Amino acid sequence: MNIQNCPLCGKIFDQRGFSRVCPSCTEALREDMKTVQAYMDANPSAKIGEAAQGTGVDLGRLKILARQGWVSFPRN
Ligand SMILES: [Zn+2]
Repeated sequence: MNIQNCPLCGKIFDQRGFSRVCPSCTEALREDMKTVQAYMDANPSAKIGEAAQGTGVDLGRLKILARQGWVSFPRN
């Protein structure tokens, strides 16, 4: 057991594997990931801040996606 507070919704959950967010937020993030991945495919040099503006996905959620390794952004 590795009890964590979900950084997105604040719910306490049992962190399994590599996921940093609770199961319901994981589902929502997967939808965000599709949106962001489509944006990054069209704009491969976009920085994380530009991706947030371009997709309308919250910057904090983008950072979590990047930390999860689901989407990668250019470093500079
Ligand atoms: Zn959550």
